[in-house]
Amino acid sequence: MIIVARKDIAADGLDHIRERVEALGLRTQISIGETSAIIGCFGDDALLGHVPLLSIPGVDSIRQVISPYKLAARDFAADRTTGVQVGSRKFGGKACLVAAGPCSVENEEMMKATGHAVGMQGAALLRGGAFKPRTSPYSFDGLKDEGLRILARVRDETGLPVVTEVLDPRHAELVAGHADMLQIGARNMQNFSLLREVGQLHRPVLLKRGLSATLKELLLAAEYVMSRGNMQVVLCERGIRTFGDEMRNTFDLAAIPWLKAETHLPVIADPSHAAGRRDLVAPLSYAAVAAGADGLIVEVHPDPGTALSDGDQSLDFEGFSRLMRDLKVFAEAAGRTV
Ligand code: PEP
Ligand code: MN
Repeated sequence: MIIVARKDIAADGLDHIRERVEALGLRTQISIGETSAIIGCFGDDALLGHVPLLSIPGVDSIRQVISPYKLAARDFAADRTTGVQVGSRKFGGKACLVAAGPCSVENEEMMKATGHAVGMQGAALLRGGAFKPRTSPYSFDGLKDEGLRILARVRDETGLPVVTEVLDPRHAELVAGHADMLQIGARNMQNFSLLREVGQLHRPVLLKRGLSATLKELLLAAEYVMSRGNMQVVLCERGIRTFGDEMRNTFDLAAIPWLKAETHLPVIADPSHAAGRRDLVAPLSYAAVAAGADGLIVEVHPDPGTALSDGDQSLDFEGFSRLMRDLKVFAEAAGRTV
């Protein structure tokens, strides 16, 4: 159940509501927007039937949230402008934010070169995996701690916040100590211990859709993180497994407007993993932005031919520069900026 209050309700008014609700053993979560304040109540709603909530000063209405996800539901946020802040930038505002960088952090030199190159072209974040999930146990699986230290140094040098994957709940704090945003990869979308762990950290989370996850499962995975107190979740459509084998995955374009209607969380797209092919990255990026994506995460490598992972789908600096140039036109048509 959610209690909708006037935006100007005094802080002690909100405290009063929270105390009344929590006294019944329910948990609360408050979202303050531009036009209203929302108090989400979680637990046995029936108990609230005996509380004259509507007579509390400042309370406007009471609504039942019937979807299985509560905190992630569109109804929950007072308004969409809440967004998810990473460094000085915000996912979910007017600007589409682009995270760019290699699949894996390979060494400091290539990270610095990539950070400077993508930053100059307008990327908002630098990506790079230090802990890599690989299908084969014999493939390069990242520089781990050293990769994190490289990311932190490149962030300091370039000023770009960094997003990197956390693979294991045991590394969550370590990764959060170096990164500005924690990526939960497709293979871990339903790793519930990991979701709970990042839910307790104060770092924005980039949650990628599982290879064969429904959108409801994606939202319930977000709910795991949010129900632990971390409301800073950005969702990512990165392609799913279907019968088609011409491409690495099948990009589910319709997922973007569907999610935007269903949740207040920002939604971005990963055209690199969706297609697995460099030449498809630009068209899928334009389509995603036209469909309402709040941003993109794109793989960029100084020399894709020598990349230790995902070289086939990585853009070189020139390709990224063309992408950013042309993306502006699509963003503008969609009423957005890059
Ligand atoms: C990645 O971003 O490099 C990655 C492994 O992504 P996904 O989890 O979507 O496959
Ligand atoms: Mn990759």
